[in-house]
Amino acid sequence: MYPPSNTPAPQGCEVCGAQPAAAATVRAHQGMVVIMRTVTRRGVYCRTCGLAVYRKMTSDTLVTGWWGMLSLFITPFVVLGNVLGARAAFRRLPEPYGAWRPPLDPGRRVLRRAPAMLVLTPFVLLAAAIPTLILIGLIAGPGDDGRRVGLSVGDCVRNAADWPEQSLLKVDCGSTGAEYRVADEASCGPEDYILHAEYQVNSPGRPGYCVTPL
Ligand SMILES: [Zn+2]
Repeated sequence: MYPPSNTPAPQGCEVCGAQPAAAATVRAHQGMVVIMRTVTRRGVYCRTCGLAVYRKMTSDTLVTGWWGMLSLFITPFVVLGNVLGARAAFRRLPEPYGAWRPPLDPGRRVLRRAPAMLVLTPFVLLAAAIPTLILIGLIAGPGDDGRRVGLSVGDCVRNAADWPEQSLLKVDCGSTGAEYRVADEASCGPEDYILHAEYQVNSPGRPGYCVTPL
């Protein structure tokens, strides 16, 4: 039995022999569609060798960990366990000294390796996409709607849709875009178009606003 995590191990790093060293457990998970396995490596390592083991096994897990229904759920816990357990224990150790065998090469941080980048890319894209979509919505959203509702008698409009569809925009009566004028029910002719209810909010209880071609 090894002493619990974070307790300095008197015998030194089991790879290079350096001091100080800590006992910790690192796991790697492999999903293989139906079957799966978790490799557990318990050992006493110095900071350098410990981080090397942690980085290798965690990075491998980010590649091999996702290939199975159960593995999808297990892998995040394996990675989190490595980060909070082994990685934290090794990072608390000071720089090792007294190695009498070559230490392991810690290499790049997990986040700087290809597997982590591949796994994180969708999340980064999603995180960037949501504010972008909100921004697009804010820019494009209300726009013309503000001018679509609440027409009154005498207003001039332009229909952005094809009749009988109505997508009416209120425009200045003197402008070239003005196509129709809003008229009261009493002056609506047989050729005029009855306004949809959404444009009649200014005249509750008075149905029958229409538009007459100018
Ligand atoms: Zn070592």
